[in-house]
Amino acid sequence: MKRDRDFSARAPLDQAFVLQNTWCDICQEADIGLANPTEYEEDGRVFVEGACARCGNGIVTELSAL
Ligand SMILES: [Zn+2]
Repeated sequence: MKRDRDFSARAPLDQAFVLQNTWCDICQEADIGLANPTEYEEDGRVFVEGACARCGNGIVTELSAL
């Protein structure tokens, strides 16, 4: 089950870290950046979903480290 969370409620530094540390499968490049981030929880794990800032490809990052 997928449950929405409020990414904007995170500390600004946490948000900046997540938005900068990305991997895009299309660009095959890290740290391009993430646009339109939304956060959700599924099966006890937290993810942020957004679009590659360069090509618009959908990117999902797990926030297990935060
Ligand atoms: Zn990309």
